[in-house]
Amino acid sequence: MKGQPRGTVLVSACLLGAPCRYDGRDKANPSLKTLLEGRIPVPVCPEQLGGLPTPRPPAGLVGGDGFDVLNGTAKVIDDRGRDVTEQFKQGARAALLLARSSGARSCILKARSPSCGVRGLTGVTAALCILEGLEVLEL
Ligand code: SF4
Repeated sequence: MKGQPRGTVLVSACLLGAPCRYDGRDKANPSLKTLLEGRIPVPVCPEQLGGLPTPRPPAGLVGGDGFDVLNGTAKVIDDRGRDVTEQFKQGARAALLLARSSGARSCILKARSPSCGVRGLTGVTAALCILEGLEVLEL
């Protein structure tokens, strides 16, 4: 039936308008409205869930992508040289837990993020979601 919820979907919180980015801003995306029609969004910001503050120094993947971070062959380092790999991994695990507990089988993640990005250099949370069999889309 039209308008009937089709289930939950994990969504990068910044795409939903939460000011959780490293610079304290959001990345609200109007395309979400259509994508979320009839679905219940579960907002997650893996970097906040991993215990990082907002705002925070920008960080990047070093030595590989999110899959490599998860298997221990790459790191996440912020622009002050601080190793935030564990916070990124913890945030990815927390996001996955929320997907599991809410019944979400798919996620819509923010592009070009060391946590949420999918194409190019896949982020840590995106990699974990892919490995765990979730359908992953990026915006
Ligand atoms: S891209 Fe992901 S980790 Fe970065 S602010 Fe948005 S939700 Fe948080």
